[in-house]
Amino acid sequence: MTTEIKKICEASLAEAKGILERGGAVAFPTETVYGLGADARSDEAVSAIYAIKGRPSDNPLIVHVHREYPLTELVYDERPYAAILREKFLPGPLTLVYRKKEGAVSDLVSCGLDTLAVRVPSHEGAQAFLRYTGMPIAAPSANISKHISPVSAGHVYDDLKGRIPLILEGGRCSGGIESTVCDVTGEYPVILRAGLVSREMICDAIGRCDVYVPKSGERVRSPGMKYKHYAPKCRTMLFDADKAGDAVDEFRRRSDAGERAFVLCADALKNLFPADKVLNLGRSDEEMAANLYELLHEGENAADLIIAIEPEKKDGVMAGVINRLTKACAEE
Ligand code: AMP
Ligand code: MG
Repeated sequence: MTTEIKKICEASLAEAKGILERGGAVAFPTETVYGLGADARSDEAVSAIYAIKGRPSDNPLIVHVHREYPLTELVYDERPYAAILREKFLPGPLTLVYRKKEGAVSDLVSCGLDTLAVRVPSHEGAQAFLRYTGMPIAAPSANISKHISPVSAGHVYDDLKGRIPLILEGGRCSGGIESTVCDVTGEYPVILRAGLVSREMICDAIGRCDVYVPKSGERVRSPGMKYKHYAPKCRTMLFDADKAGDAVDEFRRRSDAGERAFVLCADALKNLFPADKVLNLGRSDEEMAANLYELLHEGENAADLIIAIEPEKKDGVMAGVINRLTKACAEE
């Protein structure tokens, strides 16, 4: 199969819709990362997503809809605070997990859970795609399972060429990490995956927001949390923010041994390392989130080893950045 990259326009949208109607999948841009989308109502189309990515079949998908899509066709919208969150943060990088309406989408989307994750992306190209197709679109990130998520059409192409017919091109993703996943079925919102809408932002809007921590022996509420994820193809090491000295020693040792070691760190630490070996995350939280996957992609192409140093700040958007960095550098 030939994979084409096309800018979003009337003709490419019509082509995308045709592919989806035949049960296929296409990649499209969002403000977080590129998604691999297919018709969420079709078993065949949803299975195709899992097969193309090599995604474990117990890791549920997020359904993406246009801003005017009637949510109550898909889910029970019961909690008054969920309306406040929608009003404040949508369209945008916040996924809400609701109780699912039976039969609204393929059961394969949420892998047997009685909930459904729904997202309304703000990216103009994503909105155009969702409006044009009119479908609820099941979409994980458009990469091979466990690899770094794509933030440009080129990243999608490198992973999925030959596996999908079309990548809709919409520039570099501005947000840089995936949406916050927030369960809104209970009395209070519970964050299942940290992201660009921080716990603090949700707390400010609602007054309370918990963060899910799986208890041992319990069935994990967000199955995607179990897996190694976002990983570059080269080796990685992760150092705590207060262990920058150890990272310097490690970098020297590895470089002296002839390894191509690169360092991923915040701008504040860049002077500890040779300039041409630094993957500079930047200064502000938003910059660091936006640069993370781009730099991991750059690093895996240039390095034998990425030595990453956790940013010092742990709250706000940085909770999401640190979550991705930890998973990217995890053993398995
Ligand atoms: P990805 O599509 O790779 O960004 O991953 C989607 C994330 O959303 C994973 O962490 C899933 O576990 C989570 N997710 C999707 N649907 C649900 C759901 N119904 N309940 C809880 N988590 C979900
Ligand atoms: Mg993913």
